[in-house]
Amino acid sequence: MAVNKRRGVMLVIASPSGAGKSSTTRRMLAENPNLSMSVSVTTRPRRNGEVDGVDYYFISVDEFRRMQAAGELLESAEVHGNFYGTPAARVDELISEGRDIVFDIDYQGTQQLYEKRRADMVTVFLLPPSIPELKSRLETRALDDGDVIMRRLRNARIEIEHWAEYDFVLVNHNLDDTCRKVTAILEVATLARTRQTNLSGLVRELQAQIDSI
Ligand code: 5GP
Repeated sequence: MAVNKRRGVMLVIASPSGAGKSSTTRRMLAENPNLSMSVSVTTRPRRNGEVDGVDYYFISVDEFRRMQAAGELLESAEVHGNFYGTPAARVDELISEGRDIVFDIDYQGTQQLYEKRRADMVTVFLLPPSIPELKSRLETRALDDGDVIMRRLRNARIEIEHWAEYDFVLVNHNLDDTCRKVTAILEVATLARTRQTNLSGLVRELQAQIDSI
């Protein structure tokens, strides 16, 4: 019997900072063994607790420019005054092996991926239930100081403007519920005919079996 192979899904989860994107992504990774994280490169300084090669590859601006010029980045953008980008090689390798990948990238990155890999992508935008809630999540997280939080809030306005560019939009009231919905979205995406690359082989075998009865 033909093996029912498929291409992996490129799952983009986007939201303004503090709207629950990182928690959703972490939970999705823990609950879906076939899902891997796309580890971006960034020129932003490493925060306490972040691990090079796990959270990001922390690189210099010169190295970032080199990778960009060499075409090693699938997309890249300046966010909050730092550069970020997605290394292409691992994404292409995983997708062709049928592994799903989750991306934590902003709207600029999503737009660039749409131009290059639309057929492989499914995109989800998380909206915060309210701005006071968003502000308090950023404050409790305490990863950044006051002016950085204000900058992130102002950027949230720009980020939210792009909600309509995503396939699915969820209001993130509660992590469990959001993860359940994103898992359902991922599962449906894996069933898309265009991702099931060996279905025609299976169909031919089924027909041959009917013919031989
Ligand atoms: P942070 O500095 O808080 O880790 O991330 C800041 C923002 O940069 C987030 O909105 C995140 O989605 C975005 N980001 C992280 N990696 C990438 C990337 O590789 N490409 C793009 N376009 N955005 C990224």
